[in-house]
Amino acid sequence: MTTECLLCGHKKAHKHGKTAKGIQRYRCPKCIQTFPENIGTLYYNRHLSPQEVHLILQSHAEGSSLRGVSRISGRAYNTVVSLIRDASVKAQMIHNGKIKQVNTSEIISDEMWSFIFKKQKNCTTEDLMMGDCWIGISLASDSGLIIAARVGKHTDSFLEELLVNTEGKTDCKSWNTDGWGGYERILGEEYEHYIGKERTQRLERTNGIVRQQTGKWHRRQNKFGKIWQQTEITARLIVSYFNWIWSNIRCGTTAAQRAGLTSRQWSWNDLVSYPTVF
Ligand SMILES: [Zn+2]
Repeated sequence: MTTECLLCGHKKAHKHGKTAKGIQRYRCPKCIQTFPENIGTLYYNRHLSPQEVHLILQSHAEGSSLRGVSRISGRAYNTVVSLIRDASVKAQMIHNGKIKQVNTSEIISDEMWSFIFKKQKNCTTEDLMMGDCWIGISLASDSGLIIAARVGKHTDSFLEELLVNTEGKTDCKSWNTDGWGGYERILGEEYEHYIGKERTQRLERTNGIVRQQTGKWHRRQNKFGKIWQQTEITARLIVSYFNWIWSNIRCGTTAAQRAGLTSRQWSWNDLVSYPTVF
């Protein structure tokens, strides 16, 4: 029984006993190193059971604050923060690696407001990382898949980043926005651009559930959005949660399934065990 070496990539590493916790260990004949089979996962070197890992990530993705998750799981605040940070990296790798060439008839963009530490009107010019914090997302209207997400100030460059990130993942040139002026300035002539009321009807028809969920996300952000960086970390985790794990009760599928990117609903174990590129 052989496996790929998770340290150097050599195809044939051999079984080499078990760790004190009973986890299979492998030895690679090429780089002459041993490693436990869970080394590439978020279970590795953490004093948390898989069930605890899943509970912590699920609670946070559903809106519990970091301190709330710490209370729910009975685990130290720093343990929770560290796991969520690392899971967010995996989530981003999954997003970058698997969300590409998304087929959709239309892209719906949405910006959700939150604020960090203090309201914008109380901020000085030095407080760039405080005050208003917007989370912009672009959705594939047909599947509800989140194509791109950005955290930032509500500026043209913020929208431009969202546009550039979205362009890298779909050829669709039809955007449906809330009519914030920035889109008019940024969307080039090759784009179709729908604004306003029509948008609401389209959303109700195609994406009511996603709209509802991202609305909850917005409100919850206020509870834990005190640190800008943490908002970005949380946003990455939630994007992958909504795309791959969260299943629409009415149609019984995930957005990634509806977009044809996978044939089944993912679990937290899939995210936690997603192979690290090296
Ligand atoms: Zn090796």
